Amino acid sequence: MEELNTIATLLKALHFAANKHRDQRRKDIEASPYINHPIEVAEVLARVGGVTDLVTLQGAVLHDTLEDTKTTPEELEAAFGPEVRRVVEEVTDDKRLPKAERKRLQIEHAPHLSARAKQIKLADKISNVRGVTQAPPADWPLERRQEYLNWTEQVVAGCRGCNAALEDFYDRVLAEGRRVLQR
Ligand code: ZN
Repeated sequence: MEELNTIATLLKALHFAANKHRDQRRKDIEASPYINHPIEVAEVLARVGGVTDLVTLQGAVLHDTLEDTKTTPEELEAAFGPEVRRVVEEVTDDKRLPKAERKRLQIEHAPHLSARAKQIKLADKISNVRGVTQAPPADWPLERRQEYLNWTEQVVAGCRGCNAALEDFYDRVLAEGRRVLQR
């Protein structure tokens, strides 16, 4: 019964996120459905990171809903409770700030995040490094892709110490990305 509730709760988060992101596409050439990204983040947490904590997995599925859709924190709390709301808020940038400032703050804030939020950040950066390596936005020159990889390394530096398997996997994905983009 407990397991059934867990699965149902995770599926509810997936359904919610899929609905919220339904009109969005990733910036790669093929314009992949946006929801592929949060699904990948949750999948990496579970499979690579061995994460079974339901709040973390729901948070992963929902991690871009506040930042990239019209979802409100109150809506998340009503549907998924205060812990899920909190972890999604932790990984959400302040959209009122300019892009460069937001990127700087991600580096600055990372060490102060909860263990749940750090793991979601790590898996998010893994997904993004893979994306920028294999299926980058059409208008990104090589140098911008390389700079992006360097920036994720700085954010991840503040997320270390919470999940060795995820951290090792990030290091491998980053090294592979650098190898591919060196050419
Ligand atoms: Zn993301």
